[in-house]
Amino acid sequence: MKVAFIGLGNMGGGMAANLVKAGHEVRASDLSPEALDRAKDNGCAVFGTVQEAVADAEAVVSMLPNGAIVDAVYGADVIGHAPQGALFLDCSTIDVDTARKVTKAAESADYEMVDAPVSGGIAAANGGTLTFMVGGTDNAFARAEPILAAMGKAVIHAGASGAGQAAKICNNMLLGASMIATCETFKLAEKLGLDLQTFYDISSKASGQNWSMTSYCPVPGVGPQSPADNGYQGGFAAALMLKDLKLAMEAAASVDAIVPMGEKAASLYEAFARDGSGGMDFSGIIKTL
Ligand code: NAD
Repeated sequence: MKVAFIGLGNMGGGMAANLVKAGHEVRASDLSPEALDRAKDNGCAVFGTVQEAVADAEAVVSMLPNGAIVDAVYGADVIGHAPQGALFLDCSTIDVDTARKVTKAAESADYEMVDAPVSGGIAAANGGTLTFMVGGTDNAFARAEPILAAMGKAVIHAGASGAGQAAKICNNMLLGASMIATCETFKLAEKLGLDLQTFYDISSKASGQNWSMTSYCPVPGVGPQSPADNGYQGGFAAALMLKDLKLAMEAAASVDAIVPMGEKAASLYEAFARDGSGGMDFSGIIKTL
């Protein structure tokens, strides 16, 4: 299939390479010449503009930084420029309202579109093991699934348009709050004189068990290998966690949801990023506690 790919950065670069490996003819577009060079090395055809890349595409995949860019790129260069009937898949993490707005504009011009944000970082993008949470009609999902399956290990239909983004930010709000709770708990355990490995052995089999503890432990040398064992480098940047928490706070405000733990997590990650640690893995917030 001819697939246009817009935004071949940290995540999109590996995702586009996996579409090539799956036999798709990938037509790449990015503002960055370095990203295009890498895409070319990975077997993509490269184009100077989005309009040229989508001109002959049966599907358009985007992996862009934020909602304003997604809105601008689809509005100016994709809708009306891709062939009639093309399927659009936006895999960026953006706000629910913009996802719904762009899909509506696409549908008004007789295209189908899904929002399909991902769980998993750069390693999962490169390795083709992302999890996609998909919002869209049954028909759009059925068309999107085989394309997304070439880039991931799981493709889940979350519901109607916007539901993929809603699932993504709800999941990451829980992750942000549970990571901080796990960090502060280990610091308290330490101050109370507990051996941290012993506390891990107890809590990981007791009711405090959670993913941040048993799959991504923020304490070096405890639990499975994680960014804590690598000086909090690599993994999921605190700045990206902050972006997702801000999206969650906007979404919560738009529906009058009460999210005190999410709010607290957002303010703590805001302070962490402001102090120059935005590039550190999000579990590095333990250093502030
Ligand atoms: P990135 O900044 O590395 O890549 C974005 C790419 O988009 C860049 O190459 C940039 O040049 C390109 N771009 C920007 N504006 C453009 C335009 N108008 N036209 C064409 N190209 C344009 O970002 P990333 O880390 O790859 O993240 C992309 C998305 O994935 C974000 O929405 C992010 O929240 C989400 N995400 C990232 C991770 C992660 O671990 N990095 C994990 C999950 C989700």
